[in-house]
This record gives sequence, structure tokens and C-alpha cells, in this order.
Amino acid sequence: MPPLAYLSHSDCGRHDTGWGHPEHVGRLRAIPRALRNDFALFEQLDHRESRHATADELALAHDARYVAIVQQLAEAGGARLDADTVVSEGSWAAATAGVGAVLDAIDLAFGSAEDPRRSFCAVRPPGHHALRSSGMGFCLFGNVAVGAHYARAVHGAERVLIVDWDVHHGNGTQALVQDTADIRFVSMHQWPWYPGTGAASDHGPHDSVWNVPMPAGQRREAYVAAFLSAVDSAVQGFTPDLVLVSAGFDSLAGDPLGGFTLEMDDVDRLTREMVSRAEQWCRGRLVSSLEGGYDPDRLGEACVVHMRALSGGEWRAEGRG
Ligand SMILES: [Zn+2]
Repeated sequence: MPPLAYLSHSDCGRHDTGWGHPEHVGRLRAIPRALRNDFALFEQLDHRESRHATADELALAHDARYVAIVQQLAEAGGARLDADTVVSEGSWAAATAGVGAVLDAIDLAFGSAEDPRRSFCAVRPPGHHALRSSGMGFCLFGNVAVGAHYARAVHGAERVLIVDWDVHHGNGTQALVQDTADIRFVSMHQWPWYPGTGAASDHGPHDSVWNVPMPAGQRREAYVAAFLSAVDSAVQGFTPDLVLVSAGFDSLAGDPLGGFTLEMDDVDRLTREMVSRAEQWCRGRLVSSLEGGYDPDRLGEACVVHMRALSGGEWRAEGRG
């Protein structure tokens, strides 16, 4: 069994926000560029082109009218949904490929013994701010939230755990899953910060949400410890059938859109901790999907470190803390 599938689609590059926008296509291009520096990992990955999610699949988490509007706006040449969320002509193809990657990865996780049970989805636009009937914060559709509902509807997964270490609160994911008590959601995020939601006291209507707001500029270890502690508390009496990771790398030190201080070996640690838990809980079924990360070179490196850890390979810091 190949250890890790790497899912992407060239259509994800067709979501055209413009080079002045932090969530530009150069982010995605940085990943294969960084991967070329690790030929052993590149060779080991099970590279797959993702499918496009259907409108019906998107409606597992979104209002069907909103889904239709995004498609129509893209076909009409594009529009701006809010100050920083853009639909371009290629955005429908990009966003459906982004969700499709997560759905394909979930199919693999629940597939035959030959299929990889872990995947990394290198996609854009990101998804964790998208709401039921509107895009928000660079996101059009909730890639991971749609995936959680899909796993339950199509693969009979009962309990799904979503963990989100993007520096911003996954408010869209929370909104799209909090009414389903058997989807638990852990989000660590900078506080106070965009989008302003995610207070520690907000556990959702079914106590299935663990929000971990953290100040900027703390010691790295404080973020790692707080995140893992919330994960462990979220699985008390709850053994997930699938783990979904909203892998936002804007939580790394130096990101232009965040003030956390994580380094590459924290990405390695967090990833390995989640892999090892998934092995204990659910035969290793873990699907990770890219969210934020706005320094393209750091993002590319972080994705490689993340994938190496997902594939079970070794990673050594090269003279870095
Ligand atoms: Zn973010």
C-alpha cells in the first residue's frame, strides 16, 4: 500500500484572484517546486489528479442556490463576493476540483486495501471560512466540511473529527458541521484576529466544537501543547472513523497574515501526532487539505514537511530551530 496520496488538479490554478491578492496562484505552484527538492518523497507519493465535485455533493453542506450562483457568476466572467473573496471565470472549475480532491481522498481512505488511507490535497481556493450560503475570507466552498458530510453519507462513517491549525478560526467549517453532533471540530486560531469568531466558550449547539483562541507571539511549544490537548479532549468517549485536517500554514512564524510562531519541526510534530492518533482510532484514515499560508516559499516547504510526516518518512531540521 502506498503510504500517501497527493491529490491536486491544474484547475485549482484557474481561480484568478490577481497577483496583488495574498491568496494567489503562486502559493500552489510553490508546492511542486519544493517537492522537487525531495526526490525520494516525490517518487514515493501516489500522485492523482482529483475529480470535480458535483453540485449535489456541494449541497451536502451548502445551500443549493448559493452553489448555483457561484457557477453562474463564474460562467458570466466573475464577480467579487466580498472585499477579499473573488469568483473568476475559472473559479468554478478550481473550487469544484478542490472539493473533489477531498472527496477522492475520502474514497481512497475507505477504499480497498491497496488504496492509500492518508492523503494530502494541494488545493485552492481554501475552504474553512465558506458559509452555507456565501463565500468568505478567500473561500468559496467548505472543502473539508463537505468531505465530512460526504464520508457520513457515502461511506457510512459515523464519527468524523476535523482539526484545523490554520491561524484563522475555521468559522465556515464550524457553521457547516456544528449541527451534526457526530462531527467534532477542533480549531486553534489567533485571538483577537480575523474573522473574530471562535471564542473558547463557543462549543456549538451540541458541545461538539473545541475552539482554542491563542494570542500572537507565544512560544511555539504553547501552540502545539494547546492544540494537542484540545484534540485529546475532543475525543473523550468519541472514536473517530475518519480524521480531516485543515492544514493552514499561515500559523508559521513570519506569515504576512498571522502572528503565530510555528516552525517546520512543529508542522512535523503536529502531523505525526495526528497520524499516530488516526492509526489508533481508525486504521490511519486521515485526509489533509490545504487552507492558508501566504509566504509561498514557506508554504511549499511546510507542505513537503507535512507530506513527509504523513508518509511516515524522516525529517531533520537543517540547522533550524
Ligand atoms: Zn488562515
